[in-house]
Amino acid sequence: MRSRPDTRHPTPVIFSDFDGTIAQVDVTDVILSELADPAWHEVEEEWVQGRIGSRECLKRQMAMVDASAKQLDALIDAVPLDPHFGEFHALMREHGIPFYVVSDGFDYVIRRVLRNCGVDGDLLNGSHLFSSAMQVRGRSVEVDFPHWPEVCIHGCATCKPEVMRRVRGQNRPVIFIGDGLSDRFAVGEADVVFARDKLLAYCQEHGLACTPFETFGEVEKQLLAVSGQLSVAMSTDDGPLTTDHEQPRSTH
Ligand SMILES: [Mg+2]
Ligand SMILES: [Zn+2]
Repeated sequence: MRSRPDTRHPTPVIFSDFDGTIAQVDVTDVILSELADPAWHEVEEEWVQGRIGSRECLKRQMAMVDASAKQLDALIDAVPLDPHFGEFHALMREHGIPFYVVSDGFDYVIRRVLRNCGVDGDLLNGSHLFSSAMQVRGRSVEVDFPHWPEVCIHGCATCKPEVMRRVRGQNRPVIFIGDGLSDRFAVGEADVVFARDKLLAYCQEHGLACTPFETFGEVEKQLLAVSGQLSVAMSTDDGPLTTDHEQPRSTH
């Protein structure tokens, strides 16, 4: 059995986006592109320009979907995943590091994709998955936003920083992994950010500290110390993530 973590190095908690981060594409965009009225692009534009939040955006867009469950499932089953994700998730579990998915995407989709790639447990039973909800009814989909019913100041479908505040616990380093614009609100709630694509550009543009990554294989390398024991040294100067397995790292 592993000994309890040293309080100087409390076990971190990891929050990750799903679409474009764990899945290599944005599955909601794929569903809309293939199975919805093209007018969904106009709603997307309103969101990109900041006129509406992601909750209103998704509610209006998903109402334009015209598809059977069979068509939806076929699309979902073709979604490519980060090839290193399964191994990364298993490793975090082995190290006792909590891993949560926070997503504007839909539980129906995320569960199906994860199940297809052999990920199970707390991501599938819902205890570590915070996302929008979706049910297929005939040829339309019904959506709901259980995290949380009240709309946040950003208008999020799923308010990532709010989920993180409620779940993180005290004095635990928080790691966030993401790729998109809907992840920008989560950055302020994280101690360490792994960013790619639009989130990376956003962080660079706004001078926010982050570590670029392409795959979960790279995130894993950053997180694992040579000894295989994982801890995160928190620095007060927005420095990059460091691993440290004995003494607290001095800051300069
Ligand atoms: Mg994303
Ligand atoms: Zn929000």
